Amino acid sequence: MPGKKSGPEESAAAARTKNKAGPAGPGENPGERRTRKAAKSPAKSRAKSPNSAPKPDSETKALALKVLGSFSELYPDPKCGLERTDPFGLLVATILSAQCTDARVNRVAPVLLEAFPGPGEMSEAPLKAIEDIVRSCGFFRMKAKNIKAASGALMERYAGKVPRELDELVTLPGVGRKTANCVMGNAYGLPGITVDTHLGRVSRRLGLTANTDPVKVELELKNLLPEEAWTRFSHQAIAHGRAFCHSRKPSCDACPLGFCPYPRSAAGKPAASPKKTTVARVRKTTAAKPSVRERPVGKPVKPRGPGKGSPKTGARDGGPGKRKSVREG
Ligand code: SF4
Repeated sequence: MPGKKSGPEESAAAARTKNKAGPAGPGENPGERRTRKAAKSPAKSRAKSPNSAPKPDSETKALALKVLGSFSELYPDPKCGLERTDPFGLLVATILSAQCTDARVNRVAPVLLEAFPGPGEMSEAPLKAIEDIVRSCGFFRMKAKNIKAASGALMERYAGKVPRELDELVTLPGVGRKTANCVMGNAYGLPGITVDTHLGRVSRRLGLTANTDPVKVELELKNLLPEEAWTRFSHQAIAHGRAFCHSRKPSCDACPLGFCPYPRSAAGKPAASPKKTTVARVRKTTAAKPSVRERPVGKPVKPRGPGKGSPKTGARDGGPGKRKSVREG
């Protein structure tokens, strides 16, 4: 579940919707947009946990089902990119996957979990030992700290077991809704929508949402799709994002989803080349301010009042200088 940034591809509606969440803080998993207040207090997190989105209109609902039908034909057996399926292993792998490829996580996670197989061992492991193993995954200090702290919280609060509830999962250090949904859907077989950068982008381009906030996207999609399809849809949308709907240059010509509005929208049209824009701007600037040489011949030049004139040209009181030569044509 890599969390790469999306390019300037979103729809006009998406551009209007601002993501109000700030950047990941020191205790947060990069790529997860979880509020800092929620991370501090489990009770507050439960109280403020967003659980609803505006009711979708019937047109969008029909579109969502159409997308789901097409995805089921295109990707009949979608799978999570992370290979771990046990709850603790998947939790660790998902924390590692922020801003990192699934392939790398699939190489690093088994080494870490062999050294420290359960929450007990992981919580007592020297932080430096965890850091050394996960170094190649990026943000290794924060990820190591979160994995150790989350393991400690599992031992303290859940007797070493990974909880099954989203509201409980998001109270663990480094665990946001994306990680929680991933664990629920792929380790416990519970319905969950994992909003990563691919799923968000694909959903916006297809017109299923205009939001860029992952939490809002998750809640909107949950309103649009049947519960039993949530986990499957997540994998399918991610697969489609990787296969066709690339961030910078989507392969719309080859994409089988002919009903997608994105290629016909303003956002889907290629931008004017910077070269042309520059030329146009230069022409406009030149036209607005004609040079002295372009001034119509014969047009009288306002004589200067008495003064010292230009020290460079030596012109005084309309005396010999550049301006006179222009008037003379
Ligand atoms: S038509 Fe283009 S924008 Fe729409 S889903 Fe396919 S690749 Fe993505």
